[in-house]
Amino acid sequence: MFELQFDESKCHACVTRDCLTRCQYMDLDAQAAGIEMEKIISGQDSRVLHECRTCYACEEYCPTGNHPFYLIVKRQEELGITPLPDPIIRQGIQVGVPFRGDPEITEINGPVLNMGVFSPLARLAQGKLFEDLTRISTDSRKMHHFFCQLMYLHFARTSVINQRLPGVIETISAYKPTEVVHFHDECYGTYTSYAPAFGIEVPFRSIHLFEHLYNRLTELREEIRPVNYKVAYQRPCSSRLSPDAHAYVDKIFDLIGAEHVSRRYVDENALCCGSTIVSQKQEGSRRFCLELQEENIEDMKQAGAELCIFNCPACMQTMGKQVAENGIMPIWMSDLCRMAIGETPA
Ligand code: SF4
Ligand code: SF4
Repeated sequence: MFELQFDESKCHACVTRDCLTRCQYMDLDAQAAGIEMEKIISGQDSRVLHECRTCYACEEYCPTGNHPFYLIVKRQEELGITPLPDPIIRQGIQVGVPFRGDPEITEINGPVLNMGVFSPLARLAQGKLFEDLTRISTDSRKMHHFFCQLMYLHFARTSVINQRLPGVIETISAYKPTEVVHFHDECYGTYTSYAPAFGIEVPFRSIHLFEHLYNRLTELREEIRPVNYKVAYQRPCSSRLSPDAHAYVDKIFDLIGAEHVSRRYVDENALCCGSTIVSQKQEGSRRFCLELQEENIEDMKQAGAELCIFNCPACMQTMGKQVAENGIMPIWMSDLCRMAIGETPA
């Protein structure tokens, strides 16, 4: 089976222990972080395994790319320390099983758009920005064949991901795509970060949706009319697996004349939407989640944001209504980009 490629020597030589000292949900200095990291490396119990909010951020904070979050999740599973209650885990694992027959696959031999498990949101991928892509995962009854499975990091189940992911990769590869644009950050992170970290081969080239949008907008530059909105961006947890792609957020905003407001919880300091935290076992998780969301939205308000830009369906579902109730319009990144070229948002 696939094994996480984690280099312990990097941690032994690490002075800053950024993975844990920068964690927004635990208070650890470098010395304490070193002690906890050594426990995790050697397979012992650690407070980190119990207190981790599964925000993915330490994957980004580690300056050596040593995959501390994947190791935390692996150890949680080995030691039976699950962040979520067991009934949620049992039910959640069943949700992602591919069923109802195989999808009909025809070879594309060109660029494709992978909606992953979000084929019901296909309406977001229309118009000039998407006209050069052939959409796969169009049938919502068979969308789980395209489900990257990375959600199970929140469930302490790398075993489930590793068992199912090769089949998903095989399905996508069968289209013979020249490149795969991933609608969801989580899919992009799966194929460019998680799979290589576990030695799972990915035979196709992955493109983040934001890179695609930026490139298409650049091609359509003549048609862009500045949107002139002050915007905040709700960065999803899975974006922590692809900080390279996160750079396209500001590049897109600059290109379409959106002002990215200056605020506290942005980029590496972004706050989790709370969609998983709310159900976690830790005492007071619900209250903690609500306070987190209030703090995040207050930060957007104070910064003068008129729109809150989402890319992750889970973030939108968790925070969209609350954002709107606070006088900030929630809108998808793809829709904002479509507005910039005179199209009507979905
Ligand atoms: S995972 Fe990265 S940041 Fe954390 S101790 Fe190891 S090398 Fe340092
Ligand atoms: S995933 Fe987030 S909460 Fe968990 S240890 Fe890493 S930074 Fe902290």
